[in-house]
Amino acid sequence: MKAHDGMYIDGAWRPAAGRDTIAVVNPADEQVIAEVPAGGAEDVDAAVRAARAALPAWAATAPAERAARIAALRDVLVARKDEIAETVTAELGAPLPFSQAVHAGVPILVAGSYAGLAASYAFEEKVGNSTVYAEPVGVVGAITPWNYPLHQIVAKVAPALAAGCTIVLKPAEDTPLTAQLFAEAVHEAGVPAGVFNLVTGLGPVAGQALAEHEGVDLVSFTGSTAVGRKIGATAGAAVKRVALELGGKSANVILPSADLAKAVGVGVANVMGNSGQTCSAWTRMLVHTSQYDEAVALAAEAAAKYGDRIGPLVNAKQHARVRGYIERGVAEGARLVAGGPEAPREQGYFVSPTVFADVTPEMTVAQEEIFGPVVSLIRYEDEDDALRIANGTVYGLAGAVWAGDEAEAVAFARRMDTGQVDINGGRFNPLAPFGGYKQSGVGRELGSHGLAEYLQTKSLQF
Ligand code: NAD
Repeated sequence: MKAHDGMYIDGAWRPAAGRDTIAVVNPADEQVIAEVPAGGAEDVDAAVRAARAALPAWAATAPAERAARIAALRDVLVARKDEIAETVTAELGAPLPFSQAVHAGVPILVAGSYAGLAASYAFEEKVGNSTVYAEPVGVVGAITPWNYPLHQIVAKVAPALAAGCTIVLKPAEDTPLTAQLFAEAVHEAGVPAGVFNLVTGLGPVAGQALAEHEGVDLVSFTGSTAVGRKIGATAGAAVKRVALELGGKSANVILPSADLAKAVGVGVANVMGNSGQTCSAWTRMLVHTSQYDEAVALAAEAAAKYGDRIGPLVNAKQHARVRGYIERGVAEGARLVAGGPEAPREQGYFVSPTVFADVTPEMTVAQEEIFGPVVSLIRYEDEDDALRIANGTVYGLAGAVWAGDEAEAVAFARRMDTGQVDINGGRFNPLAPFGGYKQSGVGRELGSHGLAEYLQTKSLQF
């Protein structure tokens, strides 16, 4: 695979300060497909300086011009969508049709939404005798994970550009090629030099240097709760703004009046997509005791049908971790009805679509984020019991409710401690705020709420 051997800083590819590299591995066959530089503090410093130097001019650029650049970026992503999908498939392992539809398709939607918002957002409003200006926060340090490698980049960079901020991106070490492709797209779109900068590198080295850099005004992080907690503490100590999109353990609540077969089928597909590596996946399926056995049979059948269509996990570490969770589930008394811990293929980091029945709410597989193709079926006695179970984890990122009557589902959803709920299989909306309650995070991404994260207000009184 094509890779740059430098960092994208101040509008050009520049050699890294050091010689360390990161090997990029195709998780489907475990072959090294490219190497990228592993940047350090010096590279991060050069990138932050470039972003700071570019800030005054970009912040002063008219919103219509910022919108035009984001629209141009969207157009480049459209023109290069096949290349994007192939790159994501090569370094993440997602099956090509999923990469085309989701990994390439969703960022195009999100970039398009911010081209529109940059043009239409009220960056100035009258409040009584005051005029309130929404001004860019400044230099953004963006740190992203590998599971939706382009989406997570665009969900930070597009609103930051719309707000008038400049950016330094440190992408995940497993998926740097997608990030390099994105930097090429930014360049092609005519975004001025220094407005967007890319430093590839390891989290505890380049990521940490970025989070700690005093030239960064806002750290926007998506990743694990463990790292997010650390970044939040660092930012707090420096009185720096921080946005955290963290883990999840979402509940898929199937009320007795729902279309059971549909709810179970969509629920299993929701977990298996992207090989279970989705922070908002509905990994706990809650079913009324009267329908439990039927739901278990339907889920096992749906998982078995998935079979070979599932991609591998991203790397050897995740492979071992997810299989360890499955073994733990068995050891704690959950009943395997599909899949299991055995690797289904000799090569590649594959895990079979796995369904656990007889899961109780306190089991490890019902509490911790597995980040693999594993769904746990939990029985409930009545609605209050279902709510207690649904809300009974430290997370609160997403969820689903199914009922015969929409109003019944909405009434239940309003009682859930979570940032978004899909009603009867509701569709993705790129303008709706996305983010977590409780330990799933701080702040929101997407739409105007996502844009507001990159703005600060100044009030002038008359
Ligand atoms: P991770 O926290 O290990 O890594 C995320 C990013 O942080 C990577 O770029 C990594 O290099 C960097 N990083 C690691 N250590 C760092 C440090 N000490 N300082 C600064 N940066 C550091 O997470 P991951 O394994 O890459 O991603 C999986 C996790 O991300 C899951 O928990 C998942 O739920 C979460 N996630 C959340 C959302 C959301 O929107 N809430 C979306 C996707 C993924």
